[in-house]
Amino acid sequence: MRLLLVEDEKKVASHIKKGLEGEGYAVDVVNNGEDASSMVKAYDYDLLILDVMLPGKNGIQILKELRDSKQNTPVIFLTAKNSTEEKILGLDLGADDYLTKPFEFEELCARVRAILRRHESVKTTKLVIADLELNPVTHEVKRAGQRIELTQKEYALLEYLLYNQGKILTRTMIVEHVWDQDFDSFTNVVDVYVNHLRSKLDQPFEKKLLQTVRGFGYVLREQDASHKD
Ligand code: CA
Repeated sequence: MRLLLVEDEKKVASHIKKGLEGEGYAVDVVNNGEDASSMVKAYDYDLLILDVMLPGKNGIQILKELRDSKQNTPVIFLTAKNSTEEKILGLDLGADDYLTKPFEFEELCARVRAILRRHESVKTTKLVIADLELNPVTHEVKRAGQRIELTQKEYALLEYLLYNQGKILTRTMIVEHVWDQDFDSFTNVVDVYVNHLRSKLDQPFEKKLLQTVRGFGYVLREQDASHKD
């Protein structure tokens, strides 16, 4: 999942980015409101973390622009202590949640997970298809009860596929949601990572879940063994 963090305090921003990347998210960071506006127009983010107090355009204005343009990207805003007015305004404008500064990183993570779950209408903590399961809290991945070790990017790719199971995802969609803006899109990195995932998740098992849709991309789905692409 790919997140945009809008935060003008660079130290805070880099701390949060590092932490979220450690959780397997791709994270872009901008330090002002103007850049935030152009980034949300350019990319389809899975979630925004938006500081309210920013130079130039503030977080409330960015949120309003976003909702006015009918983008329903989930938003968590970061507000100063004792600013009840900001909280009410933000929530009324369509933010999904807020956090009061200073906050514990673990709390931010829990709220990000909760919102991604709600947004994708996933009702349980675990993401499941057939006998494969991923736990977004512990990052544990199991197939047929066996623990599978994944690298951070393999994990992020699998999480995105699981949130979108049954849907065909193009390479562009995968790149936009699993890698950040520093990614070089002229490489075949998606195919490489899909192959890594396959060798760990599918190869040892009879039922193949990660399927290629020729000319389109990839899909994670359950399918009869008799019914091949
Ligand atoms: Ca600020």
